[in-house]
This record gives sequence, C-alpha cells and structure tokens, in this order.
Amino acid sequence: MSARFVINLLDFVRDSGAHHGKIPLAELERLQDYLFDNTNELIYTIDGRLNKDNKPTLQISIKGEVNLYCQRCLDKMAHAIDLKTSLLLVENEAELCQYDEEDSIDTILATPSIDVWVLIEDEIILNLPMTPCHQEDTCKIDHLVKNSTEQLTHPFAALTALKKTH
Ligand SMILES: [Zn+2]
Repeated sequence: MSARFVINLLDFVRDSGAHHGKIPLAELERLQDYLFDNTNELIYTIDGRLNKDNKPTLQISIKGEVNLYCQRCLDKMAHAIDLKTSLLLVENEAELCQYDEEDSIDTILATPSIDVWVLIEDEIILNLPMTPCHQEDTCKIDHLVKNSTEQLTHPFAALTALKKTH
C-alpha cells in the first residue's frame, strides 16, 4: 500500500532522477493539525539536476488543494497549493550553515536516504499561511457582525425617524 519513495539525494541528482506521484493528505501526519479535512490528494514532481554552477539541486513542485481552518470563523477554507521549490544539496553541516546565511538559497542536507513524502510535507508546512482567513464577505464572522450591527442600528434608526416626525 505504501507508495513512499525513499532516495539517496546525491545519487538521485547524479542519475538525473525524476519522480512524480500523488500523496493522499491523510498520509501526511504532521500536516493533520492544520487541516479541516484530509480527503484530497496532492500531485508532486521531483527532479534531480545540476544547476548552472554545476551544483546538485532538487526541483520540487507540489499542486493541489487543502482545506484549512479559517482563523476567524473556524470554518472550512479552501487553500490552493501551487509550489515550486529549488533546493541546493549540501554534503555537510558546515556547508549548510554557510548557505543559511544567504537567505535566497534553500538548502537540504544530502542524507543517504530520505523519504520524499517527508520532504514534500516540509515544503507544504513551510508555505502554509500563518493565519489563514477567508476573504472578506465569504467569512461567516463578517456575516455575523453585519447582521448584529444591522440589528443594533435598527432601533436607533427607528428612534431617529420617530424624532423627525415630531
Ligand atoms: Zn472565516
């Protein structure tokens, strides 16, 4: 049943590896806390190649849709995922630290075996909105507030109207 794909990153790049597949959201354990439901699937591709400086990189793309909790009304909120990331493979911690100082480069330690799904889950979590919220007008809270202010303003409006006639 497991479609998990474990690779040696350096070998994968050396062989110009390419892999694609689908991940059921239900399989991504750490993501569950963020999800309203987990029935969708995500599509991903992963390619190993050398960049223009001849350095090994991993190109990851992830597409799909997840349902998150709106942080205002706690109801379901659809969030489209369309990620493209390029990760530079580094071979030791020292190299990792060196690149960490350059913010524009995302790096990954080239461990001998890595589960691609874990890698993809990391990318998704990193790129989730910090506080997902519905757009105005689609959030239940806005409708509630609108309704309650309408109820509040009505008595006063009636009062003003009353005053005017006298
Ligand atoms: Zn909302």
